[in-house]
Amino acid sequence: MITRVKTIDPSTIQFSSDDIEDPQVHVTDPVTLSILKEAAKLLTEDQVIAVPTETVYGLASNALSPIAIKKIYSVKDRPSDNPLIVHVSSLKMLRSLLPPKENSNIGEIPLIYEQIIKNFWPGPLTILLPKSLLIPSEVTCGQSTVAMRFPSHPITRALISLCGFPLAAPSANASGRPSPTLASHVLMDLNGKISLIIDGGQCNHGVESTVFDAIGSQAPVILRPGGLTFESLRRMPGMENIRIYNKDFVDKKLEMVPTTPGMKYRHYSPNAQVILVDVCDKHKSHDIMKREIRQMGENGERAIGILATRTSYVTSNEENGKKNGKIISSDDHLFSNVKSNSRGTIKIIEYTLGDSTHPEQIAKELFKGLRYLDERNVDCIIVEGIPEKEEGLAIMNRLRKAASKIIGE
Ligand code: AMP
Ligand code: MG
Repeated sequence: MITRVKTIDPSTIQFSSDDIEDPQVHVTDPVTLSILKEAAKLLTEDQVIAVPTETVYGLASNALSPIAIKKIYSVKDRPSDNPLIVHVSSLKMLRSLLPPKENSNIGEIPLIYEQIIKNFWPGPLTILLPKSLLIPSEVTCGQSTVAMRFPSHPITRALISLCGFPLAAPSANASGRPSPTLASHVLMDLNGKISLIIDGGQCNHGVESTVFDAIGSQAPVILRPGGLTFESLRRMPGMENIRIYNKDFVDKKLEMVPTTPGMKYRHYSPNAQVILVDVCDKHKSHDIMKREIRQMGENGERAIGILATRTSYVTSNEENGKKNGKIISSDDHLFSNVKSNSRGTIKIIEYTLGDSTHPEQIAKELFKGLRYLDERNVDCIIVEGIPEKEEGLAIMNRLRKAASKIIGE
């Protein structure tokens, strides 16, 4: 199969208003419209294609067609017991997919989600809902709940809306690999396996959606940290006691049915071995990273990738309530000069993820950085951990799953 890549500028797509009940799409550019129509036709024919979302690139197909769903699993080589997220483009579509109320053909969104949907949809939040018979069991892997999301990316929204049916869309990488945040990442993993990749530029969040359950026995719980932060969810009324799976508690029964990614499978991994240095103090962390580099060198010729964060020391003075920041120092390329004491030679390739005080920048660069170093055939990637605050929670969750060695305090 020939994989074609077609580029769309997302700014050529607009929506009627802030209305999420039944928004209308406006596509002014004829080229954009013809690519979207072609993509919708492929999806109607049960094909799978790759599309950009605000989190990562997704491998999309008709969520209501068992044939189309099975193709997602085979293209990705995804374990068949790892359920998929269903993406909708309106609340009207969402209701039509829920178990119908008596004397009606539409369902009701549980009240507990009302404020959360109002505040965070469209966006990087997936919620668990009761599954209706319309959703094939291949999507949910036999579970009684279905994970649903209303994405904000104009291309995905417009495409779902044009199709008129929901799309299942896991990340568009080969199973186990880092998720794609650029169309070129998708091409690298799935060239020849799908007919179309829509290139909409770099994904804004860079990590997958937050999977949130407010209706299960452990609720409210974040099953997978992601693009929407724990802090934002906890601010919502009734969410003061929200917990994070794997951090605040684990549930052996839940682990048997891998309801959320990575509970059972290795994830997000480049080919190179990943060493995560999870130490709060930056100086200590850098010393450990340098020690690891030297040790690698002692084992012979080595190419080592470094994923480090940058610290910018900012002076700020408050003037009329406005903050003026000035960067006075930054510590890029700290590791390039580390030498091995023994005969071994070390080649160091450093990739700076972003400012450690801006975890949203780091999230955006994380998978890109892992893939960048992998493409340069490094033997090992040493990653500097960051605090588990805001997007840092999702970042560290992904890194722990990618790492084969974690050095803690
Ligand atoms: P991905 O599409 O690869 O980003 O992963 C989607 C994740 O959402 C899956 O790995 C699931 O574990 C999680 N998920 C999907 N459906 C359910 C469900 N019914 N219950 C709990 N988690 C789910
Ligand atoms: Mg994935």
